[in-house]
This record gives sequence, C-alpha cells and structure tokens, in this order.
Amino acid sequence: MSACIFCGIVAGTAPATKVHEDDTLCAFLDIRPITRGHMLVIPKLHATNLDDLDAALGARLFALGHRMAKALRRSTLGADGANLILNDGKSAFQTVHHVHLHVVPRHTGDIRSFATGMLFRGRVGSQPDPATTAAAIRTGLDRLDLEESGAKDKEQHA
Ligand code: 5GP
Ligand code: ZN
Repeated sequence: MSACIFCGIVAGTAPATKVHEDDTLCAFLDIRPITRGHMLVIPKLHATNLDDLDAALGARLFALGHRMAKALRRSTLGADGANLILNDGKSAFQTVHHVHLHVVPRHTGDIRSFATGMLFRGRVGSQPDPATTAAAIRTGLDRLDLEESGAKDKEQHA
C-alpha cells in the first residue's frame, strides 16, 4: 500500500516521531495533536478499517493503547487520564484509511485547552518539541516496566 501515509511511516519513508515499535505495532505522535503527547497506535500490516483487521491484532492494538495510556500517567507530561478513540469508517470521521487508535492525554480541568485542540487541530502549538515529548512518554513506559517487574518480583517472593 505505497499510497498509504501510515504504511510510509512504518516503512520509514515518511517522517514521524515514533514512541514505540515492535514486530506488529507502531506508536507515533499525531502530527496535528489535540493535546501534547497525542499518539496514534497502528498495526504495521495495512488494514483499512476494522472489517479488514485481524481480531488478534486488534486485541494487541488495544493492549498497546492501554499501555500507552498508563505510560502517559507515569510520564513527565503528568497526564491524569486519556481518551482512547478509534474512528472506523468515513461516516465515523476516519480520514486516514489505515486503522489507528488515538491515545489523547488528558489533565484534570483541561476542557478549555482540549476543546481548543479539537477546534484548531494543528494550529495550536501543543506538540512544539516532538523529540522531547516522545522522550517523556518513553520515560513513562520505562517507569511502567519497572513497576511491573517489581510487582512480579514481589509475587515470586511472596
Ligand atoms: P482520523 O480522523 O482518521 O481518526 O485521524 C487521522 C489522524 O492522523 C489525525 O489525527 C491526523 O492529525 C493524523 N495524521 C494525518 N496524517 C499524518 C501524518 O502524516 N503523520 C502523522 N504523524 N499523523 C498524521
Ligand atoms: Zn497503510
């Protein structure tokens, strides 16, 4: 699918600030963020919409979105929550036809900046330094890994 911009990002032929990549999935910063740290989680294998997406891969996609939401809470972005949104089909406002899960960081009381971000997508400077933003989220992932390995150690020694 050479015409697909997200396939281009997976292949490395289109630019993106990637936050996470594994054998089947990729997470990168949205170019027109609603809030700082807004990410898209995608399957590497092109799927146009949910009809086209393997169910097991869909489960992995959500699992990574879940993990990213937890990482945002632990990151220096200091998110208190996140909106996970998947627009499936043109009627649901899907504009890029390669399945993607939006992970949008939220902060308590941010309704004004969230609404502004929604209204003026890409015109508000909420992702001014993508490299720093991505590094902050990766720090959250590292903290989550540490927490989880600590919890496993405790279980093993209980
Ligand atoms: P949709 O409306 O299809 O759910 O959302 C598509 C998302 O993809 C939008 O939030 C838009 O800002 C983002 N997007 C579109 N083109 C690019 C691109 O080339 N790079 C990145 N990083 N995001 C993109
Ligand atoms: Zn694609």
